Amino acid sequence: MTSLSEAEAPRSAAPRPAGGTGIHLQGLTKAFGSGRKQVRAISDATLHTDQGSFASLLGPSGCGKSTILRILAGLEQPTGGTALVDGMTPAQLRKAHGLGIAFQDSALLPWRSVEANIRLPFEVAATRPDAALVAELIDLVGLSGFEKAKPAQLSGGMRQRVSIARALVVKPSVLLLDEPFGALDDMTRQRLNVELLRIWTEKPATTLMVTHGISEAIFLSDQVAVMSARPGRIVEVIDVDLPRPRHPEMMRTPEFHALHDHASELLFGGGTAAG
Ligand code: ADP
Ligand code: MG
Repeated sequence: MTSLSEAEAPRSAAPRPAGGTGIHLQGLTKAFGSGRKQVRAISDATLHTDQGSFASLLGPSGCGKSTILRILAGLEQPTGGTALVDGMTPAQLRKAHGLGIAFQDSALLPWRSVEANIRLPFEVAATRPDAALVAELIDLVGLSGFEKAKPAQLSGGMRQRVSIARALVVKPSVLLLDEPFGALDDMTRQRLNVELLRIWTEKPATTLMVTHGISEAIFLSDQVAVMSARPGRIVEVIDVDLPRPRHPEMMRTPEFHALHDHASELLFGGGTAAG
């Protein structure tokens, strides 16, 4: 049984490296291909968040959200601009082994058990698995009793929990989440959002989550970066000043609705006032 942490783990007070801490995007651009076939995926994206904060990238499909995440993860090179996390380039971040990533399709190995999937990052890094940590994470994501189950025996929500536990097993200082619950039904998604929040409070990391869900972005985040359609630009960064700890009931408050309306306006246009 996991309880809400009474004492939140202290946020890191490490000295600030050059370039600032947290997510740091400055004039980021990305084009795929060249000539007439060139696709401009990201145009001049700028975003600064604090170390240990939770930020979301919110935008329509195809606006370059996953591309930004892939650049931060070092899986894609930007065409222009700067991307730093906690003062590190994506390449330095990968070397520091402090990066946890989870994607929409849980990307589990179907022939491996829950336990063996969560253990995978140790094998990739050729280090001895920390069995106690694996067990602790299985408990943290609410999968005790399913250690030996194979992905095919789990629900979609359970598979995503495995994926999140696997992202956390490297004790990440930086967590990149690409629509982690995007493929799930609304009710499961809401429940997992509450759990993600609890997990993130227990194991804080500089987090950037990609989503096209307005409510989940606001509910989880300190900052919501709203993107335009492709080529994606960050049109506004909304500060979410709802207090923490957050509770689902907060989604029914006027403050939440005001933030939701504002984000909707930026995404879909605000009627007569929209330019
Ligand atoms: P989002 O995650 O916001 O839905 P993506 O970042 O996946 O959007 O993609 C942004 C744009 O870049 C899309 O038009 C997509 O087709 C294009 N794109 C993404 N990856 C590649 C690639 N490897 N080669 C060519 N085009 C790509
Ligand atoms: Mg995407």
